[in-house]
Amino acid sequence: MQLHSIEKIKDKLQDYDNYVICGHVNPDADCIGSQIALNLLLKSISKKTTMLLNGNLEECFKFLPDSDKFTEKIPEDDYAFIYVDVAEDKRLNIKGASNKATVKFVFDHHQVNNADVDYAYIDSDIASTSMLIWQLAKSLNITNKDIATACLCGLMGDTGSFRYQNADADAYSSALEMVKAGASSSEIALNLYQKRSIESFKIEEQVLNNLYIDSEHKFALSCIDADTFEKYNATKADTEGMVDLIRSLGCVDVACLLRQTEKKKKVHGSIRSKTDIDVSVLATKHNGGGHKAAAGFTMNETNLETAFKTIKNDMVKLMS
Ligand code: AMP
Ligand code: MN
Ligand code: MN
Repeated sequence: MQLHSIEKIKDKLQDYDNYVICGHVNPDADCIGSQIALNLLLKSISKKTTMLLNGNLEECFKFLPDSDKFTEKIPEDDYAFIYVDVAEDKRLNIKGASNKATVKFVFDHHQVNNADVDYAYIDSDIASTSMLIWQLAKSLNITNKDIATACLCGLMGDTGSFRYQNADADAYSSALEMVKAGASSSEIALNLYQKRSIESFKIEEQVLNNLYIDSEHKFALSCIDADTFEKYNATKADTEGMVDLIRSLGCVDVACLLRQTEKKKKVHGSIRSKTDIDVSVLATKHNGGGHKAAAGFTMNETNLETAFKTIKNDMVKLMS
């Protein structure tokens, strides 16, 4: 896989007229913010665009410009395809979305070994994909308030609002540029963190009830079953930030939250580290991935108790 410079990517984006932009499954603030910012940029240079999203956009992202423009419908006519915050078909938010692409671009900050694309702008040392989109905005000389807001939303999401290890000097200097361009960190924080549902509090109670702490190995693990989701009519969005709640325990270095998916088909794990322990190793073992300090995986395991035991054993090994 060949990587390209932002100048090359900028030039190549001029060559096509119709773009489809798609992120990853379980889209987070970086994924949504980056898609929106890229969409605004492409529209500014008179391109036709489609932002793909399976299902409804989470409430907390609805303050973003053009947040009502997501669609599930893949265009029929020829299109150039852009992977955002993801680099592989198997994690695409809409399955098969890239199948009919005439050319493929990717903007990502995950560790990517090989991507089946024509033009790749990938930097695994950077805190968010939205910082890469911001670089594109600067190179196009289109750095308005809306684009800055969407990019800062992504950057705040992936750095836990500058609390995680990836909040380095580059992250801060990009944020400064975005704020100077009109983005408001308080408006973003209000939407991302201060609009919790009552359901999420009920779910949190369950997460605390199910909490297992191994203080010898400095990790904590909890889970939420599908019945609890159903009982409170809650969605995955209501669990946002709960793995961070577990991580906030002073006696642990690593935290994991298991969530049984709808109809008990699978178990999704979110795992976080606050030291240099690489939790993506554990995620990769279960066919997942992510970053050193924040990773995820989805197990083809219908039984939550079995998954819990497996991950508990894996965490002991990881922390020994
Ligand atoms: P999550 O815990 O689901 O918020 O994900 C944390 C990080 O791991 C994000 O960077 C995700 O993109 C990544 N991730 C989550 N699930 C998977 C998966 N099944 N495969 C690869 N990466 C994942
Ligand atoms: Mn993401
Ligand atoms: Mn990201």
